[in-house]
Amino acid sequence: MTSPPCPMCDRWQSDADLRIAELEHSYLILNRDQFFPGYCLLFTKQHQTELFLLDKEVRQGLMEEVSRVAQALAACFQPDKLNYELLGNMVPHIHWHLVPRFRSEPLWPRPIWSEPHQELVLSADQYRQRCDQIHRALAEEV
Ligand SMILES: [Zn+2]
Repeated sequence: MTSPPCPMCDRWQSDADLRIAELEHSYLILNRDQFFPGYCLLFTKQHQTELFLLDKEVRQGLMEEVSRVAQALAACFQPDKLNYELLGNMVPHIHWHLVPRFRSEPLWPRPIWSEPHQELVLSADQYRQRCDQIHRALAEEV
């Protein structure tokens, strides 16, 4: 083995307190920093680095999952815009940063990484509440 361990492959275990939903092709967790309310991470169950390397059926199913989660986040947080960021420079395992964005933010309309911000850490109860809220919104979709 030459490649270092992949932190995203462990994330469902290491961030167990932030779990929202296990979908068919992906896992959904809340991002620990909630400076952007509702900021989630959706990552593939399968370790893969690029969308084009997935089987077509998996890729299409994955895109449906991304879209479903975005719809649930929109219902929960009523943002002005949903952001979808799939970079993988730091952690090359397909994962989306799904971020509700608001015109009232200091960083609007720039990307979330355009300047540093103070991380917002919630209490265990607040994390659980927010995860449950998103989980319920996902379940209510048709
Ligand atoms: Zn991985």
